[in-house]
Amino acid sequence: MPTRIGIAGAAGRMGRTLIEATVQHQDLQLTAAVDRPESGFIGVDAGELAGQGKLGVTIGDDLQAVLGQMDVLIDFTLPEATVRNAQACAEAGVRMVIGTTGLTDAQKADIDAVAARVGVVFAANYSVGITLSLKLIDMAARVLGDDYDVEVVEAHHRHKIDAPSGTALRMGEVLASALGRDLKDCAVYGREGRTGERDRNTIGFETIRGGDVVGDHTVMYLGLGERLEITHKASSRMTFAKGAARSAAWIHGRDGAGLFDMEDVLGLR
Ligand code: NAD
Repeated sequence: MPTRIGIAGAAGRMGRTLIEATVQHQDLQLTAAVDRPESGFIGVDAGELAGQGKLGVTIGDDLQAVLGQMDVLIDFTLPEATVRNAQACAEAGVRMVIGTTGLTDAQKADIDAVAARVGVVFAANYSVGITLSLKLIDMAARVLGDDYDVEVVEAHHRHKIDAPSGTALRMGEVLASALGRDLKDCAVYGREGRTGERDRNTIGFETIRGGDVVGDHTVMYLGLGERLEITHKASSRMTFAKGAARSAAWIHGRDGAGLFDMEDVLGLR
């Protein structure tokens, strides 16, 4: 029996790519798709919207009405929507794969509460390359230590609404943990004016927004006499959608509640 998949935010940039990835995954079947009532795509066939031909799954605007038709909800929407959807999934016993970024600490705590009731995969980035790069970033920070200044630079398309990206922040958390620091105390978001010399214990973030950049991230380790850079460049949203589809199949095959990320899905822990 294939895993029955619902997609929230189905008409969005990621939503359409997720429809395609679900159709292409042999163990998954798209059974429901929803978006906001104000979306101009309510009533449209999800397959046709994603260039996959007619699938017989119409984009609806009421998640509650279709929760019974899915085993896993894949949600790439907005933080407030994701929290509301997650609470509905917990009530219905539907597992989740969440890709939405920009959640506040309080919203993340809401997701933790949902994950105490159903299985949830929640990752700021579903690409295999980024998941591996988090391991490399951790290793490099532990080897280079406090002698090297660390900075995270990211670039995304002009429509992205949160900054720095969820992936950049996750990289910052990995760096801070490897260096024995708390990111909340040491993060510096952009610099301007008379900043004075660099505080050696900070982790700096720089954000570039424009055009159609799918997602670039570089961590720099800047020492005296050398500089190491670890860079990842996504060239297609399909890389995230494939990771999310793989996560949906994984969480469906796993009993019980809990909060997981791509490292769990890829067996890297
Ligand atoms: P988008 O604006 O193109 O799509 C979001 C969709 O969600 C829209 O169609 C919108 O109408 C819909 N939506 C909003 N509220 C809703 C609700 N209450 N119910 C149902 N649908 C609702 O944005 P996007 O580029 O597809 O990105 C979506 C999110 O995914 C962002 O937070 C982005 O940062 C994140 N993202 C994560 C990854 C990852 O790998 N984790 C990769 C890419 C994007």
